[in-house]
Amino acid sequence: MNKIRIAVVGGGASGLMAAIHAVNKNTSVTIFERNDRVGKKILSTGNGKCNLGNTRISTDDFYGTDSKFINQVLKEFPIQKVITTFEKMGLFLREKDGYLYPYSEQASAVLDVLRYQIKDLGVQVIANAQILEIKRKGSGFELHSETEIFQFDKVILSTGGKSAPKTGSDGNGYILASDMGHELIDTVPALVQLRCKEPYFKRIAGVRAKGRVTFEEYREEGEIQFTDYGISGIPVFQLSRNVAYALKQQREVQLYLDVLQEHCREYLNGFLGDRYETLKERTVEQFFAGILNKKLMSLFIKLCGIEEQDKVGKYSLKQLNMVLHLAKRFPVTVIGTNSYEQAQVTAGGVDTSQVDARTMESKLVPGFYFAGELLDVDGKCGGYNLYFAWATGALAGMNAADYGNA
Ligand SMILES: Cc1cc2nc3c(=O)[nH]c(=O)nc-3n(C[C@H](O)[C@H](O)[C@H](O)COP(=O)(O)OP(=O)(O)OC[C@H]3O[C@@H](n4cnc5c(N)ncnc54)[C@H](O)[C@@H]3O)c2cc1C
Repeated sequence: MNKIRIAVVGGGASGLMAAIHAVNKNTSVTIFERNDRVGKKILSTGNGKCNLGNTRISTDDFYGTDSKFINQVLKEFPIQKVITTFEKMGLFLREKDGYLYPYSEQASAVLDVLRYQIKDLGVQVIANAQILEIKRKGSGFELHSETEIFQFDKVILSTGGKSAPKTGSDGNGYILASDMGHELIDTVPALVQLRCKEPYFKRIAGVRAKGRVTFEEYREEGEIQFTDYGISGIPVFQLSRNVAYALKQQREVQLYLDVLQEHCREYLNGFLGDRYETLKERTVEQFFAGILNKKLMSLFIKLCGIEEQDKVGKYSLKQLNMVLHLAKRFPVTVIGTNSYEQAQVTAGGVDTSQVDARTMESKLVPGFYFAGELLDVDGKCGGYNLYFAWATGALAGMNAADYGNA
C-alpha cells in the first residue's frame, strides 16, 4: 500500500511538532524549510531560555476573532499533552509560577530534542527550500520551490506570521493560504514596544517602574520600561495588539500609566499632608525623594509647573498633591508600534472560521492543514504562543496522518 505523503511547509515550532505527530507506518513526512536549518526562531524565544508553555493557560490568554476556536484547541490538545510530549522526547522541564522552560534554561535544548526526534522518526528535511506556490493536483497537491516541483497527498502550512522576519517568517505563508482560497484577518505587530508622541521620553529613557497600564477596557500590570521613543515592558507588550488595531483604525490612542498602583489617592494625599508642615523648608526635590525613580519624579514635578529647587513652602499642598496624582494617571499618546522586526508575534492571519478546530484541516480544501502563528490567534506573553504552535502543530500532524482520512 502506498504511504500518504505529507508535506510540512515551514520547519518552525508548529511545523516540527506537526511532522513528529504525522509520522506513522502509513505516512512519509517531509519538512520544507526556507532557512538552512529548522527552528531558528525557537533559539531566540524567552530571551534564549524558551518559555515553551504555561500550566495556568486559559482562553483568556489568547486573542483572535473566534474564541471558540481557541477553546477547542485547548480541549483537543491541553498543556498537559504538550508537557507529556516533550517529556517523552527526553526534555527535562522546569516550572516557575506556571511558566514552563527547559530545565537547562537553554532554548537550544528544546530545538535539540525536536531535531533528534524528527531524525529518529525518519522525517525528511529539505532545507534552503522556500515553497513559492501550492496547487491542487487531483486529490493531492503540487508544491513548487524555485528549482523543483513536488507531489504530496496532504499539506500542513506552518509558515509562521510576519514577526521577526530574519528568522524566516516574513508573511509569505499568508499568500499561500489565500491562493488556496482562505480569507485573512488584517495583521498587526503584537507583543511589541509602543512609540509615543510626547517629547520628554528621552529624559526618562532607561527608567523601569512597576505599574499598571490602562488602555480603554484593558489593564495590565508589571514592569513598565521607558525608552527614548516611548514605552516597553511586559504590560505594554500585553496591550500592544489592541493598541495596534486601534491605530490601524486611525483611532486616537491614549494610555494611562499608574506607577503608584499600590496606593490610592487619599493615602498619598495624607502622606504628603503629614510631611508638608514639617518639611516646608526643604526643596521640592528633597520633599519627593525616594518615592519614585529620580528621573521620573523630576519629570512629573516639571510637568506640574513646579521648580524642583524651590522651597516646598512656595507651593500649596494641593499643587504638590498634583505631582503624585500625575504619577497615578500619567497620560501617554501612542502614535505607532515598533515594526514586525521587533514584534514577538503577529496578530491576525488565516480566518479560523475556515479551519476545523479539532483537526486543523481547512474547511475549504480537504487535505490542507494549518498550524501555528499563521492562524488568526495570538497569545499573551508567558509561553502561550509556543503552546499554540505546539498544540496546533500536533493536531494538524496527527489528523493529516489519520489513515481513515486518506
Ligand atoms: C524574540 C522572540 C521571543 C519569543 N519568545 C517566546 C516565548 O518565550 N514563549 C512563547 O510562547 N512564544 C515566544 N515567541 C513567539 C513564538 O516564537 C512564535 O509564536 C512561534 O515560534 C510560532 O511558531 P510557528 O511555527 O507558527 O512559526 P515560526 O516559528 O515563525 O516558523 C515558521 C517557519 O516557516 C519557515 N517558512 C516560512 N515560509 C516558508 C516557505 N514558504 N517555505 C518554507 N519554509 C517557510 C520559516 O523560515 C520558519 O522557520 C517569541 C518570538 C520572538 C520573535
